[in-house]
Amino acid sequence: DHFLASIRKLDGEINSFVTVTEDQARAGARAADALLATDNAPSLCGLPLGIKDLFCTNGVRTTASSNILRNFVPPYESTVTSNLLADGAIFLGKMNLDEFAMGSTNMTSAFGPVTNPWRRKNSDVKLVPGGSSGGSAAAVAAGLALGTTGTDTGGSIRQPAAFCGITGIKPTYGRCSRFGTIAFASSLDQAGPMARTMEDCAILLESMAGFDPKDSTSVDRPVPRYEDALERGVKGLKVGIPREYRPDTLPADIAALWDQGIAWLRDAGAEIVDVSLPHTKYGLPTYYIVALAEASSNLARYDGVRFGERVDAGTLDELYEATRHAGFGEEVRRRILMGTYVLSSGYYDAYYLRAQKVRTLIQRDFLNAFEKVDVLLTPTAPSAAFAHSERPTDPVQIYLNDIFTVPASMAGVPALSLPAGLDHDGLPLGLQLIGRYFEEETLFAAGRVME
Ligand code: GLN
Repeated sequence: DHFLASIRKLDGEINSFVTVTEDQARAGARAADALLATDNAPSLCGLPLGIKDLFCTNGVRTTASSNILRNFVPPYESTVTSNLLADGAIFLGKMNLDEFAMGSTNMTSAFGPVTNPWRRKNSDVKLVPGGSSGGSAAAVAAGLALGTTGTDTGGSIRQPAAFCGITGIKPTYGRCSRFGTIAFASSLDQAGPMARTMEDCAILLESMAGFDPKDSTSVDRPVPRYEDALERGVKGLKVGIPREYRPDTLPADIAALWDQGIAWLRDAGAEIVDVSLPHTKYGLPTYYIVALAEASSNLARYDGVRFGERVDAGTLDELYEATRHAGFGEEVRRRILMGTYVLSSGYYDAYYLRAQKVRTLIQRDFLNAFEKVDVLLTPTAPSAAFAHSERPTDPVQIYLNDIFTVPASMAGVPALSLPAGLDHDGLPLGLQLIGRYFEEETLFAAGRVME
């Protein structure tokens, strides 16, 4: 009742939900009540969550915030949401996102932009929540759900978490199954939790993660009890500070908060080490080749024939063209065109293949750094949340917002963002912790020290 009433009261303005599943939530709450009276209540029994509208939910409309899936009702459940349901979670509804998870502002959604619940001091100007998991982040920040699921391809959990003052973790690639999650860039997409605290994220990740034979890139390793790592502390932990993440243009507030984070970890017993990740500057350009190439291939399935919306037209080619023109927004169309271009014969070697090679160099940067240190600390994003009206019209300017999050995605290593402080306008800023493959526990332990 509390969460549904809050959604009714506040979400008209925030717009974080694409669909509210009130009847199912109430039925879930009644079932949870009954279970809680027994000794068999599962770990997430009765906890109300929001699900990014990129996870297929059986019988519940799943749109990817795109017109092309506006009325798509999946006949099956994603593995991640099945895991949460099996542990007793209740779903309040489906969260708004950038169309097909492409963006950093949540302004490319076919269901309208999301508004960040935070405001600058002495200002009513509405701000973006970040993206693409903008609805998931804004809902947690506004108290409309206890936690939400997100997906992160190049920063889509971490950057909106930072913009909205919450915690979010992108686990190691392969930790959570991608089965039933609508694909953007398959070699990068990874699901993760978004919540208020490190502890909430640890509890949710434990439920979401795990091997799934239905996803060939899911990894068969036992899921630790992440909660147990929370109080481990950082004594003796080596924390690397990558010098390439401190460009001259880094805003003073962000640099100061980063120094504060370093001090917190040092005071708690960590050893701070300067490290270099020399290929960092290639992260963004290679990401925007690899991700777009994969997107152009993944989105070929929306042809108006098998599922999704259809615009009837004369020939089959005309049907494809009319359907895809009406169904996809501008940013998605731009990415399909660029992705198709870099994969086309004659350009494949120059762009796609080259980007794959540079991706390996970026990965090696992390492997080398992790021979010297256990974890890396950086800012999450190069700015705080900005106003909808300040969103740059040049797409490359928007892509630059991913500069600190994309390298960990390219390498597949786990990374989290925690709310670390406020800027001079009173807006939240995030710090990012990046760890070795499958060492999410170290991230939770170090993150907890800075909470
Ligand atoms: N902002 C990045 C992009 O637009 C990342 C998106 C994501 O992680 N899904 O591609």
